Amino acid sequence: MDNLTNPQPAAAPTLQPLLGMSLDQLQQLCAAEGLPRFAAKQMCDWLYNKHVDTIDAMTNLSLKARSRLAEICCIGRSEPVNCQVSRDGTKKYLFRKSDDPQQFIESVFIPDADRGTLCVSCQAGCRMGCRFCVTGQQGFHGSLSAADILNQIFSIPEFDRLTNVVFMGMGEPMDNLDNVLRSTEVLTAPYGLGWSPKRITVSTVGIIPGLKRFLDSSSCHVAVSLHNPFAAEREEIMPMQRPYPIADVVSLLRQYDWSGQRRISFEYTMFRDLNDDTRHAAELVRLLKGLYCRVNLIRFHSSPDTPFRTSSTQTMERFRDYLNAHGVTCTIRASRGEDIMAACGLLAGQNKG
Ligand code: SF4
Repeated sequence: MDNLTNPQPAAAPTLQPLLGMSLDQLQQLCAAEGLPRFAAKQMCDWLYNKHVDTIDAMTNLSLKARSRLAEICCIGRSEPVNCQVSRDGTKKYLFRKSDDPQQFIESVFIPDADRGTLCVSCQAGCRMGCRFCVTGQQGFHGSLSAADILNQIFSIPEFDRLTNVVFMGMGEPMDNLDNVLRSTEVLTAPYGLGWSPKRITVSTVGIIPGLKRFLDSSSCHVAVSLHNPFAAEREEIMPMQRPYPIADVVSLLRQYDWSGQRRISFEYTMFRDLNDDTRHAAELVRLLKGLYCRVNLIRFHSSPDTPFRTSSTQTMERFRDYLNAHGVTCTIRASRGEDIMAACGLLAGQNKG
């Protein structure tokens, strides 16, 4: 049959999400649509202060402006499709990826007495392939838009309790840097949430070109996933070691000033008999000597389908004490949400709801 006798339904136009747009971008949108320039400021206020979830709720825009905007844009908000609560109070939220409803992403809310931290995802899956990571084993299913990143923050019931956001969920932030930077801009800009960049930490395995661009264009904290100071051993568990050796990552970091507000930390997941020996601690000290930084030791959450095993508490404490005694500040990070697979490296983005 040809298309004349059996016409295909016209594809629905893709609506552009307003969430994640900067003041500048909203001004360009207003100019293109013949709206007054001040409407962009009003839209920022509705989006980032008042948290509206419909364009119609932007009541100080004219009816005509709202109806034109609704033809081409959407807010970009969507509720989580599932929430699991850990016995320690940690909550894991599941969201649909807006441009691919078959894909899910996860965010983890971690409440503390005086803090509320949200760990957000920047990609569905990940292409970095770290061997110990559940997300990495799933492969890559697409990067998130700035709207999808910010939606994780704006659409949880704990939004008003958030004190910190960490980009340590699914995906590698330097592999989706434009959208990560757009998100952090909205979080920190006066037209957005106006947060201090000190409230935001962005992690990376050490993708050097992206990391350099990030360091030059953002003041947020940085966390580098280190996990082994020896090149050959690190490459066994982190394929990105080959193109971007950790020694080169540390050399790059040494070119920046870390004595001020901005912090650099190194994440070190401890695997029994793999990276928890004194020789690893000694090499870490050599690698990081003189760099103003902190090492966070993370307990590995073992499961039957992984060959990796958890270091004992005693080994972790010995490792920590060695680093501290040799001039590298080191802490053991408290583990949260293990019973709901919300801990580091366990985010699978599966809809079990
Ligand atoms: Fe990707 Fe991070 Fe997992 Fe590595 S640890 S595969 S970078 S999500």
